Formats: sequence, structure tokens, C-alpha cells
Amino acid sequence: MLYQESFDVIVVGGGHAGTEASLAAARMGCKTLLLTHNIDTLGAMSCNPAIGGIGKGHLVKEIDALGGLMAEATDHAGIQFRTLNSSKGPAVRATRAQADRLLYKAYVRNYLENQENLTIFQQECDDLIMDGDRVAGVSTQMGLKFTAKTVVLTVGTFLAGQIHIGLNSYQGGRSGDPASVNLADRLRDMPFRIDRLKTGTPPRLDARSLDFSVMQAQPGDAPVPTFSYMGKTEHHPQQIPCYITHTNTNTHDIIRGGLDRSPMYTGVIEGIGPRYCPSIEDKIMRFSDKDSHQIFVEPEGLTTHEIYPNGISTSLPFDVQMDLVRSIKGFENAHITRPGYAIEYDFFDPRDLKQTLETKHIENLFFAGQINGTTGYEEAGAQGLIAGLNAARRSMDKESWTPGREQAYMGVLIDDLSTLGTKEPYRMFTSRAEYRLLLREDNADIRLTEQGRELGLVGDARWARFCEKMENVEQERQRLRALWVQKDHPAVDKLNPMLKNPLSREANLEELLRRPETRYDDLMSIEEFGPGIADKQASEQVEIQTKYQGYIDRQLDEIEKKKRHENTLIPGDFDFSKISGLSNEVVAKLTDSRPETLGKASRISGITPAAISLLLVYLKKHG
Ligand code: FAD
Repeated sequence: MLYQESFDVIVVGGGHAGTEASLAAARMGCKTLLLTHNIDTLGAMSCNPAIGGIGKGHLVKEIDALGGLMAEATDHAGIQFRTLNSSKGPAVRATRAQADRLLYKAYVRNYLENQENLTIFQQECDDLIMDGDRVAGVSTQMGLKFTAKTVVLTVGTFLAGQIHIGLNSYQGGRSGDPASVNLADRLRDMPFRIDRLKTGTPPRLDARSLDFSVMQAQPGDAPVPTFSYMGKTEHHPQQIPCYITHTNTNTHDIIRGGLDRSPMYTGVIEGIGPRYCPSIEDKIMRFSDKDSHQIFVEPEGLTTHEIYPNGISTSLPFDVQMDLVRSIKGFENAHITRPGYAIEYDFFDPRDLKQTLETKHIENLFFAGQINGTTGYEEAGAQGLIAGLNAARRSMDKESWTPGREQAYMGVLIDDLSTLGTKEPYRMFTSRAEYRLLLREDNADIRLTEQGRELGLVGDARWARFCEKMENVEQERQRLRALWVQKDHPAVDKLNPMLKNPLSREANLEELLRRPETRYDDLMSIEEFGPGIADKQASEQVEIQTKYQGYIDRQLDEIEKKKRHENTLIPGDFDFSKISGLSNEVVAKLTDSRPETLGKASRISGITPAAISLLLVYLKKHG
């Protein structure tokens, strides 16, 4: 049966990628269908109920700067907020929030249900409808067919998902949800490179069975940070602390004793797991010299007793899970509410994707999220937004848009995936970005909101707030430049104690703020200079832009130089073997990856600057 309406964009999957993809397309005015297994699991967090962290927080701010939902939902659901690396430079500072799982899900669902141009439908998608080399829609388990100009697949860990607990294993998309088996079979018949990855989660515990008095409490920050540029602390629900405890040598002995029934160590699981989120059995084996590993004891919400013990992800048999949990300080009488498990699933080699996240093999079909080999809600949300906006633009016959590496962590993520591919679940780190100083959490809006407005992603309220902030920053910077202080200025007695070297010549406030020892708020506490601007986001920007101007300018210069060749196009059917001087290995790598630009070619591992020069010369001569 054919559904009566046709859509511009169909998004399959209501996880973090699917949410942002469908909202982006609908915000841009496209008639959008979100087709998902179960409406009750929209916005569900499969693992840790936490958003952000180093590198990941940057992605959340960028999603927000482009009008996405993740930051806003976190502000309304976060029960503990912290700024990580707060004592370090602004480039690596990152916001992290522990969320109430139910509040998060409810906020996402409510938002989706009220989004104009968005239709939600519950059914499993089990096939793609093809029109030659293009996708033309999807069909569902009950034989219903939906047609559309573009389709975005965001089916997470569900494709041929296999759950493992000890040596028991069964099909599943994640705990409590079915795997996507028919769709996985169908996609295996298509010309994609497909492989298996794995991820895992810890057992959940009942808080009433834990002894928090022997654990170290970890409160959130005060004042409480917000995630969204539009966020207010009033949006946050009640704030509660997390706790810290540790594994010990007894725990490690129990784990070693269970390895003969571990699916990972007996070779049952073949997929590669996330290196930076290892299971506890992996940690014990890889860091055998360590007597103890930290566990963050994180509440799952305000209205549940369930606890997420962050740091003991495991797929060991349930009896070993019981013993290892109960060997930990404060967990001696722990009741496990849900067992830990590992899941193996299909993912697509992201080198088969264009920068827009459209597949190279099937026109109008886009992939986003965990199916592209990433791990994490933030990485999924970021890809969802870019895939959703590009699917929407394609349906309107408009040019595509993806941020560059110098513009956003989203750009770094997509460029890394589509150029280098990945052999293990990919997660974002600040170290992946070469222009870290420019790609800060505090300026994601300055980097992206204007572009988002042009694309139709940013609504009026966000745009008005952004313009107001930019105006405040500019006016305050001008005021600081114009406010001069001489040696005999009446405020010098209050100023000098703040300075490492007392004022010896006339200086304006911008110069004084550039000194490493001064802070904007301290200078503004001097009556003659203050009170400064009340807009905290703007004053933070004034301070950072002033203090780091020199470094920022240098990085901008570097980008300009690189840009000259970065976007030089390489024709899709280019024959690399025609370039004399390239080794067979380099020709094979370039032919295999088919980079679209010289910039992408330069980032393929093993492609030397000398090879890029030869390629450039050839393209210039024959282009
Ligand atoms: P998902 O959130 O998985 O959403 C997929 C959506 O698609 C679901 O709504 C599903 O119902 C729907 N769907 C699937 N197939 C179909 C179909 N055929 N038809 C209709 N709808 C369909 N991340 C970390 O950062 N660190 C971790 O340690 C970590 N551990 C994890 C452990 C486990 C056990 C799991 C399952 C996930 C873990 N994650 C972890 C990953 C994190 O959950 C994902 O990265 C994130 O949820 C991916 O978002 P997504 O939107 O791509 O997919």
C-alpha cells in the first residue's frame, strides 16, 4: 500500500541523529517524515545519560548554534552541570551535563511533536524503494510504502544488532528494543562496504542498595552552567550530586577469573569496541599494573532509583557482574536492576560518503550517526543535523553546505570520517582539530549562527539574541579601547595591586585586559572602569577575544594560506596513475578513497606533502 502523501525528506530512526536530522529539514520548510520503531523511545539515551564533555560539548554548542535541539533539551533535563578544564585555556573548556533520562526523552518527544512540517510515524523500515541508482522512498514491516525526494538513515546500533552477556547472545538493537534485521540484509545487497563494530554498557544499580556515605560526593558547578546560547539556569530541574568510588584488586581478580566466559576474550565478539570507552575487562587487561579504576556513580534521574556506574561497562556473564559489582566500596549490597551487555552491529565505511553525508553509491540517500562508525549522542546529533539540512537542500534543488575543518568540530568530524574512514568507534576530541584556538565552545554561535540563519535553520528569537550579543561585544570592545588610564588616573591605586608590574605608561583598558593576570570582572569592579556589560556571554567573548587576539590572528593567517589549495577540485573519474612520480601505494590509496578535493587528499594517511604537490601541479596543468 502506498501512503497518500509524498515527502521531501524521510528520516529513518528517532535517536539523536534522527531527531536533529528531521528537525533541521522541517525547520527549513521541507515536508518531513520521521519514521521510527517506537514513538515512546524518541530521544532515548542508549547508554550513559550524560551529554557533552571534552570535544563532545563543542559539538553540542555547534548543534545549538545552528538551531538544533540537543543543548536545549539538556538544559531542561540536566541534573548536574560542570565545566571541564575550567582552569585551562578557553579552547579546551567543555560543558558536561548529567541528564535525567526521562526528562530528556520527554522534552525531545514534545518538541518533535510540535515541530511544524514534521510527521511522525511508528513502524519498522525494512527496505528502500529504488528508482534506478536513486532512492525514492522506504517501505515498512507491514508493507506500507512512503515516497520522498531524499531519505536519511539514522538507525544507530540496530542493524543486525547482536547483544552479548557472557556466552549468551541474542538479537537486539539495544536492551529492550528489536534489531533491524531485514533492513540490514537489504543494505548488504547494496554496494556499500559494511563491517561490524561493538560497544558496551555497565549494569545499572538500585540506589537504595548502595552506601553513599563511603563514596566521595561530586557536586556540580556553582553558578550552574547552561548548554544552549538561549539557555537560562531557570530552565534546569533540581540539581543533585554524583559520587565517586573505585575498583580494587579483588574486583580485578574476579574479572580475570571470568575471562574464560567473556565474549570478548573468547573470540565470540569480533567487532572492534570504542578505545576511549573500554569495558572494565579491557581496562584490567590493558592496564594490568593499575590496582584501581575510578567509577563515577551517576543518577539516572530525579524520579528513579537507578544508578549508572560509569566506568564498569562489561559483557561478562551475569554471575561475574554480580560479584565484581559487590566487590566495590559502597556497592557491597548492590542490587543490579539491568545487566551490562555488549552489542555488535553493522556500520558503513564512511569513506563511501560525500561531505554532505550523501552516499556515493545511491543518489539522494544520506547516512548519519552511529551507522557511520561513530560513537556518542553528540557525534550522532551533529551528523544528523548536517545530513538533514543537506537532504532538505537537495529536495529543494539548492546547493549543499557542510562546515569546513576551520569552521567547526562538525567539519572535522565529517571530514575525518569521509576522508580517513574508521576502524574503531570514532569519538570527538579537541586534539582532532588543527584549529583548536578558533573552534571554542564559547564562540560556536559566532562561527555558525549567521550561516544557520541563511540556511533557514535559525529562528527569529535566536537570531535576535545573537545580534544583540554581537552588538554588545562590539560596543564594549570599542569602549575598552577608548578608555585610557594614565599614571595619575584616580583609579590607579585600585588597578596596580591587580597588575604584575604597576602601570608605567598610559594604557587603554584593552591593553590592560590583554595582560595574563587581569580578568574582565576584576577590572570592572573598579568603579571608574565599570560596571561593564551585564550580558555574561558578551563579556566572556570580550575577554577571550582580547586576550587571545594574537594567537587567533596567527591561526586565521594559517587557514588563509591553506585555503588557497584546500578546495581545488579533483574530478570524480580522475586517473591518479597518470601522474608520474606517484608511488603505486599512493595511487592505490587515492584511487580507493577518491577524495573530492586536494585538501581531503592531503589528509589521507600515507599521502605525503610531496605527493600533494605533484597532484596540484598536474591539476593546474591539465585542469
Ligand atoms: P540510536 O540512538 O541508536 O537511534 C537509532 C534509532 O533508530 C532508534 O530510535 C531506533 O528505534 C531506530 N531504528 C533502528 N532501526 C530502525 C528501522 N529499521 N526502522 C525504524 N526505526 C529504526 N556512546 C558513547 O559515547 N559512549 C558509550 O560508552 C556508549 N556506549 C553504548 C553502549 C550501548 C550498549 C549502546 C547501545 C550505545 C552506546 N553508545 C555509547 C552509543 C550511543 O548510544 C550512540 O552513539 C547514539 O545513541 C547514536 O545515535 P543514533 O541516532 O545514531 O542512533
